[in-house]
Amino acid sequence: MTLFEVVIILILGSAAGDVALNEDAAFLPVVITFIVIIGLHRLFTLLINKSSRLQRHLEGKPIVLIEDGQLHWENAMKQSFAFEEFTMELRQKAVTHIGQVKLAFVEIDGNLSVYYYKNEDVKPGLSTLPLSMIDATTEIKKPGIYACVKCSHVYKLKKCADFICPTCGGSTWSKASIDTRVL
Ligand SMILES: [Zn+2]
Repeated sequence: MTLFEVVIILILGSAAGDVALNEDAAFLPVVITFIVIIGLHRLFTLLINKSSRLQRHLEGKPIVLIEDGQLHWENAMKQSFAFEEFTMELRQKAVTHIGQVKLAFVEIDGNLSVYYYKNEDVKPGLSTLPLSMIDATTEIKKPGIYACVKCSHVYKLKKCADFICPTCGGSTWSKASIDTRVL
């Protein structure tokens, strides 16, 4: 459901609740409220279908959250974004690391849509395991490709300590995975 539809349902539920819970509540105003709200919903649906601009205002637009195997950090920062919840949804789609994903959108109804890389195109990426299960460190003891556990961006790092992520300013790293998706 879009935000607009949720608002409509809340209004209708509130109107129906008055009659259901209060014996003295008049019935006719509730019926009129239902007719007006359903009429307005139909009118807006018609207008939305004719104007993509109005649709964006009323229902929002899909937001890119992963692009080219990495979190779209700018968009993630604009959202009230829960990384743990996001990785949980990826795990449910059999994504073991973010490098397996070419594009991921949060749709206007709140669902996550994922476009996967073919196995031969998978990039090194941050594991989608819960943070408590990721082998994360601030000290790079072996040179290699590492992913920032805060923003998922991937860098080739030499032996060092407290390397600051150029994307998000984080300093905790995890060895990037190159596993392909197993279905
Ligand atoms: Zn980072």
